Amino acid sequence: MSFFSIAAYIHRCFFLAPHHPWWTFYVVPLTNAIITAYLLYKVFILYQKQKEESLRDPLTGLYNRRFVADYLERTLQKLSRAPTSMQEISILMIDIDDFKLVNDTYGHQIGDKVLQAVAGVLESNLRISDIAARYGGEEFLVVLPRTSEKKALHIAERIRRAVSTLSVGPVPQITVSIGLASWKEGLTPSGLLEIADQKLYQAKREGKNRVVY
Ligand code: GH3
Ligand code: MG
Ligand code: MG
Repeated sequence: MSFFSIAAYIHRCFFLAPHHPWWTFYVVPLTNAIITAYLLYKVFILYQKQKEESLRDPLTGLYNRRFVADYLERTLQKLSRAPTSMQEISILMIDIDDFKLVNDTYGHQIGDKVLQAVAGVLESNLRISDIAARYGGEEFLVVLPRTSEKKALHIAERIRRAVSTLSVGPVPQITVSIGLASWKEGLTPSGLLEIADQKLYQAKREGKNRVVY
């Protein structure tokens, strides 16, 4: 509202309609302010919701690949400037074993339920500061900030065991293979991911349902 429109409003209220009770002069601007504030609030909530959804995988509710890749990049950049005591970060590349067989035997819907159940195990076994993401079809990436290799191994084993006790419909057993990599000075995000990927494939070669670091 410009200065002139406010002045015109006051003029209309006090000089053109002096017989109106005083409070009627406030009704229009107050209603306008309330409606504007409400609409702004709605737009803000919608914006927040869309922003959050664009970072998430719709099936599992975990973060998506774009978000986690970005997060890893930003975290490693900060890490190289941090004091040595803070320079610990580990990642887990997790892949469901023989998932194609689950789909082929029990159908895609049961396959989707397995993905959701594994995502649930990740969420319930991680700390608030950890990030779990669906990295590909049946592959997950977990980022564990301020976590040494030893601690990460403990977490990976806990996840592997929890998945092996899952029960999803008719599927007799679900297992995962996990590749663990810990950051060292000079490693780029893609270098770190490459190591985790190699360890994951080593776990597959060695018989699956295991953690390799
Ligand atoms: P490995 O033990 O070596 O990892 O074998 P695998 O069968 O798990 O791996 P493979 O790469 O052969 O198969 C992955 C399957 O995952 C194939 C694909 O159809 C399935 N898949 C990918 N995304 C989804 C999804 O969103 N839902 C379902 N139900 N299946 C999916
Ligand atoms: Mg697999
Ligand atoms: Mg795979």
